[in-house]
Amino acid sequence: MSTMSIFERLIETEKLPSPAPAVLRLIQLTGAETIAPETIVDLIETDYELAHDLVQYANSALLVPGRTVLSLRKMVTELDTRIVVSLALGFSLLSRYRTGNCHEMDYANFWSASLAQAVAARAIAEIQNRFNPDELFVCGLLSHIGVLALADLFPEEYGNLINAKTNEPEILIREKELFGITHLELTAEMLQKWGLSEQYTLVVRFHENPNTYNFSDAQSFEISRLLYLSLLLSKILILEFPLLEKLHHAEQLGENYNIRENEFGPFFDKLVYHWQEWSRIFDIPCQQCSLYDQIRTLEAKQTDNQDPDSISKKICILAVDDDPLTLLSLKKILSGEGKELLTAEDGEEGLNIALEKQPHMIITDWRMPKMNGLELCRILRRTSTTQHIYIVMLTSCETDDELIQAFEVGADDFITKPFTPKVLEARIHSGERLIRYQKTISHDREVIQKYATQLTSANRQLQTMAMTDPLTGLPNRRSAMNRLASAVAETLRHGEKLSCIMIDIDHFKKVNDTFGHESGDMVLKAVATTFHRKARMYDIVSRTGGEEFLVICARSDLLESQQLAERLRLAIADLRITLEKACIQVTISLGVATWNSDFINGEALIRAADKALFKAKKNGRNRVELTDI
Ligand code: GH3
Ligand code: MG
Ligand code: MG
Repeated sequence: MSTMSIFERLIETEKLPSPAPAVLRLIQLTGAETIAPETIVDLIETDYELAHDLVQYANSALLVPGRTVLSLRKMVTELDTRIVVSLALGFSLLSRYRTGNCHEMDYANFWSASLAQAVAARAIAEIQNRFNPDELFVCGLLSHIGVLALADLFPEEYGNLINAKTNEPEILIREKELFGITHLELTAEMLQKWGLSEQYTLVVRFHENPNTYNFSDAQSFEISRLLYLSLLLSKILILEFPLLEKLHHAEQLGENYNIRENEFGPFFDKLVYHWQEWSRIFDIPCQQCSLYDQIRTLEAKQTDNQDPDSISKKICILAVDDDPLTLLSLKKILSGEGKELLTAEDGEEGLNIALEKQPHMIITDWRMPKMNGLELCRILRRTSTTQHIYIVMLTSCETDDELIQAFEVGADDFITKPFTPKVLEARIHSGERLIRYQKTISHDREVIQKYATQLTSANRQLQTMAMTDPLTGLPNRRSAMNRLASAVAETLRHGEKLSCIMIDIDHFKKVNDTFGHESGDMVLKAVATTFHRKARMYDIVSRTGGEEFLVICARSDLLESQQLAERLRLAIADLRITLEKACIQVTISLGVATWNSDFINGEALIRAADKALFKAKKNGRNRVELTDI
């Protein structure tokens, strides 16, 4: 049965997750015609919680300040209608499906992971500056909504799947068997029904494995890859082990989005902060303190606990045959020391056991009811967790052509029935030798990988140290000047906007004199953290001198960076730094300059910002000044 007709049947049950009536109406209206902003606002305002969430989103200090809007009306007129509707869709589902009727499903964790993916997708899109960050936020948020739907439609069966801890590729096979549709297919159908563009539904449908689908346009492939990276990051955020492997992979992929090796840590930490902020806004529990460095130590603890002796473990063999007599004689021959034997009576049962237990070797009959040996072999070879299993096919009197077919679908060896125990033992023995040999190789590879990881990590630490200010953890002057040079090159090549903000703490000497140098250090740290948090994903905040900071604002004009500067100034003025014996307050002065063709290099831009900073000091401090234009 096609997934579409199954989807139609699921719709008829009227149990599929569905957004609030106001959002459904919005979707219908926008699908049919262009609608006036007033109509959209009126509809949204019928749902207080939804209106509140949308305004929160639009006004959040985490978003681009240049686009800060205050009212729902302003948001609706400023953003693309399609995007407002999909944001409304996401928030509505989030608030309506915080729990459900599948006991095994952890709904809070589901939304936490979805939100993590949404935040990550948005952050990468912001840095990359090619696709709409809001649109990617929604894609991330809803990319697994099919899981929620399946859990609600089939609470018991889905609960069993969750309990069986089935891994990613297998879960799709099991879902297809049980429900006729996978959660990814269902997600895509639902998104399409709710009016998301075909491009985005396709992208979501294949984002877990973008390389396996032949996208008709390069852009969809790009978006799908971006979403894949966001999924990877979300898995790290929710601490899905193993972490280091994912972290390395994410770091490699990050380079496609201008996140360089030594910037990945700060990027990741910022993501953690944004994710926690969004979780607070939407009242979803999320783990604390999973910063980049902490994640690395968490993983180290896990790997230290690993069984060091896995090579010498028993070899597990699965025998699959519908003939009880053959099974019995296999049992006799194979139940020796150092072996664990499992049995199954047909191909389907064999597949289930293989997926769950992942034996080292499978001896399977060819002709069996339900699923024959060939089909079993074909599926095992296509599934990542079982493709390495050593498979021996039991044959009766097959022709040469049939035997070739068996090897073509991936069998490693064959034995003709009836077999003599001695021949069978010899064949099995040779298979075992290969398995042990493979185990040794993979163990060696793990050891090498571990050392390589440690070496990379040590190199990275050295590189990071050379580029980082040890007190605040921010990039230092050298790093800032490198980044500024790249940003200037970008501006010259593509005509991108570029600005910078020079910042100096007011009367900092007095802080040192009154409270001591150590307290002064604490103030510097607190100020740096505030800057880091309040800046946008693509701003680069650095400490360039004692109590001086520089913010490089890529893609921002004078007005946008002035708004950011103002936001930073207010944040510091509001900051109370509570120390053991005192509560300290400081203010900052800021100078903003934007690139124009008269500048010859980055230093010239900084000099201009410095001049503006000098003006801010002269005009009374605790203020923002711009360069004279
Ligand atoms: P203004 O408003 O004009 O900027 O006054 P100011 O006192 O902040 O300026 P000034 O440049 O005279 O003083 C800067 C002080 O910052 C002097 C120095 O002792 C202090 N400082 C520089 N680096 C550090 C540091 O790493 N830790 C601490 N605690 N103080 C530092
Ligand atoms: Mg100062
Ligand atoms: Mg100074």
